Parts: sequence; structure tokens; C-alpha cells
Amino acid sequence: MNLSQVLERAKALDAADPLAGFRHRFAAPDEECIYLDGNSLGKMPVRAMALTMDTLDQWATQMVGGWKNGWYEAPLRLGDKLAPLIGAQPGEVAMSDSTTVNLHKLAGAALRARPGRTRVVTDDLNFPSDVLALQSVVEGVGGELVVVRSRDGMTVPEDDLAAAVDERTALVSLSHTAFKSGFVHDLKRVTQVAHQAGALMLWDLSHSVGAVHVDLGAAGADLAVGCTYKYLSGGPGAPAFLYVRAELQASLDNPVAGWFGQAHPFAFSLEPEPAAGIRRFLVGTPPILSLLGIEAGLDIVLEAGAQALRTKSMLQTEFLIELADQFLVPIGFTVASPRDATVRGSHVSLAHPHALAIDRALIAEHQVIPDFRTPDNVRFGLAPLTTSFDEIARAVEATRSVVETRSFEAYEGAVEGVT
Ligand SMILES: *Cc1c(COP(=O)(O)O)cnc(C)c1O
Repeated sequence: MNLSQVLERAKALDAADPLAGFRHRFAAPDEECIYLDGNSLGKMPVRAMALTMDTLDQWATQMVGGWKNGWYEAPLRLGDKLAPLIGAQPGEVAMSDSTTVNLHKLAGAALRARPGRTRVVTDDLNFPSDVLALQSVVEGVGGELVVVRSRDGMTVPEDDLAAAVDERTALVSLSHTAFKSGFVHDLKRVTQVAHQAGALMLWDLSHSVGAVHVDLGAAGADLAVGCTYKYLSGGPGAPAFLYVRAELQASLDNPVAGWFGQAHPFAFSLEPEPAAGIRRFLVGTPPILSLLGIEAGLDIVLEAGAQALRTKSMLQTEFLIELADQFLVPIGFTVASPRDATVRGSHVSLAHPHALAIDRALIAEHQVIPDFRTPDNVRFGLAPLTTSFDEIARAVEATRSVVETRSFEAYEGAVEGVT
């Protein structure tokens, strides 16, 4: 295929895409910009602006009365709304805090629920903040974090996890979709590995929800956390979500206790009385402005449907890898994501020795925005609600051009900074 054939094909794929229309629900201040970082910060839904103005108006007109008119209920109301996207039931999900803080809460709760067991098992594909949180939680009980190493830098097979999990393990905690390689663990089989050893299972769904199929209920998973600001387009720093399987809720304590997790916060009692249900995993006053803003993106994702999003995402990552094989592998890239779409999320990492400079050149010269992940990955995030096949084709062409013309050399001294 030559370039014009590739662009033709991309246009045909866009024409046949049932989700193509959703793209226009998101702000696009610059039509030329090809945004391939929706897995890091999802684009802003146009409606988010009116919704946030509405929240400001509630503050202006209702003042403290806003708490009686929906603010207090919002963490659980929005959790129930998100629930079907992850195979959860009403009452199993709440919005609160950041993903990292939620990990501290749920991992701490799991360790308390398994007295005598002080090990937590994770893998080295997990997000560093998760590993730091787990490390800190196990240190608190004098335990040990076991980090299973990936053999190929991309995947971790269940057998390697199973070999690390035993009767000393209180908890297995993993990212469902790995932030760098995009590898997707088998939710059900890995949960079984944990359960067979009597351990609890905690999933981080940050890079999955809104793009990758997740059914916590069918997998029998115990606990989960995840971001709302990635594929869900909840907004920068919007509260994360947490999931606790219904049957477990009464037997788990929130180790980060606070008044919003109490049965009667406005009784101002000094005696702890955790709320029944998922509410006990809340801590303090939620950030209402960003919490209510999540609903704009959430409504769009629900309307599009998790299955349709996954189908498109798989087609798009296939298309990108096919083009990468043809145009980018011959000039020094390697595909650093799994080639089997069923174990791959919605981003594709392409490794190159000059990845950082290439990433910077793409942004500065081509308005193509992927991101760089150390040491040598250019990561292309394909958000099925907003990315078109045409953009994928043009991004590959821009990447080829940056390398062939060696224009990236001007960015060789780039420092990593915030990426
Ligand atoms: C993005 C991401 C986070 C971010 O956590 P914050 O607490 O929101 O900063 C955590 N874990 C994973 C797996 C992520 O992809």
C-alpha cells in the first residue's frame, strides 16, 4: 500500500464506523491536531462546560443547601451510573479521591481482612504509583511486596503469577491493562489464581474502563479502582472510582477513615460507626465541581456502549500495527505491545532508540500528540470515541516523515519532564 491507498482505506473505515459521530461531542479547538493521548487525559466533552457552569450556579444560588440537593449523594449516584461499564451492580461502586488513594484504602482493607498473611503480589508492568502505594501498605504491616517480573517486558503469564502466590499472600493487585505495553491480564483467570490461594484480588482498571471489556462480576473480582479522566473523559484530576464486591463490604474496614465514610456524619460523634455498604470507603468532603463534571463523559460512554467501544478499539489498534509494520518497522521501530488484539488494550507502544526526540518532533512539527514512556516508547493512545482511522494513518505518516527526514534530531536534547 502506498500513502494514498492507506488514506483511502482509512476514509472507508471511518465511513463504516458506527461510532464516528461521537467525535463531535468533544471539544476540538484545532481540527488539525491529532490527539493520541486520550488514554492519559481524555478530551473534554462539549457538555462538560455547561455542566460545570451549572454546578457553579448551584453553589451560587444554593450555597450550603447544595449538599441536600444532590451533592451528598453524588459519589454513589455516579458510581451506580459507572457500574455497568465494569460489570458491577448498583451499590458496589463509589467515586472518591484519586486512584492512588483508593489503592491505599482497598489494599489496606484487604490486609486487615487476611490477618496472618502479609504478602502482596503485583507485577512490574503495573503503574509506578500503584507499586509505591502497595509498598507503603505492606510496610505498615511489616510485610513484603512481591513483584513478578515480565520476561519479555510486555506480558506476564498467569503461571508466573501463580508461582508467586501462596498461603502467605493476602492480596494480588494488578493493572488490568498495562500502562506501557498495553497488555491485558485475563480478569477471570488471574482472579482465580488469587482465590485458589485464599487471597483477595484488586484490579486497577484505569487503562481499561471505556475501552476494554471489563466484567468484574463474572470474574468474581473482589476489589477494583480506576481513573475517570482517561477514556471516560471526566476531566483533569476528576475523582477516581472504587469497587468492592457487595458480599465483602460489611467485612472490610476503610483504613483511611473519615467522616464521609460514617453512617451518620452529621451526628458528629467521636465513636466510629462506618456506613453500611460502599459509602464506608469514602473519606472526606468530595470535590463537587470535578465530581459532577464526570457525568458529561460518562453519559457519552454509556450511550456508545462498552461493547461497541471495544470493537472499534480493537480495529483501530490492528490498523495502527498493520501500518507500523509496513512503514515504521523498516525504519527502526519495534512494536512493543502484544500483537494479539484480545490481550491488548487501546494504546500501542512503538519502541525506537530516539523515542523521546521523535515524540517531541511529532508534537512540535506535526501537531500529532502521542506520549513518551521511558526508556524508549512512543505511546499512541487510540480513544475509540474521539480517534478516527484517518488520524491514525496521518500519525503514522508523520512519524515516518520525522524519522526519514531526521527532523527529530533537533529535539535530541529534550528532557523528559511531564509527559
Ligand atoms: C493513570 C493511572 C493512575 C493515576 O493515579 P492517580 O492517583 O489518579 O494519579 C494510577 N494507576 C494506573 C494504572 C493508571 O493508569
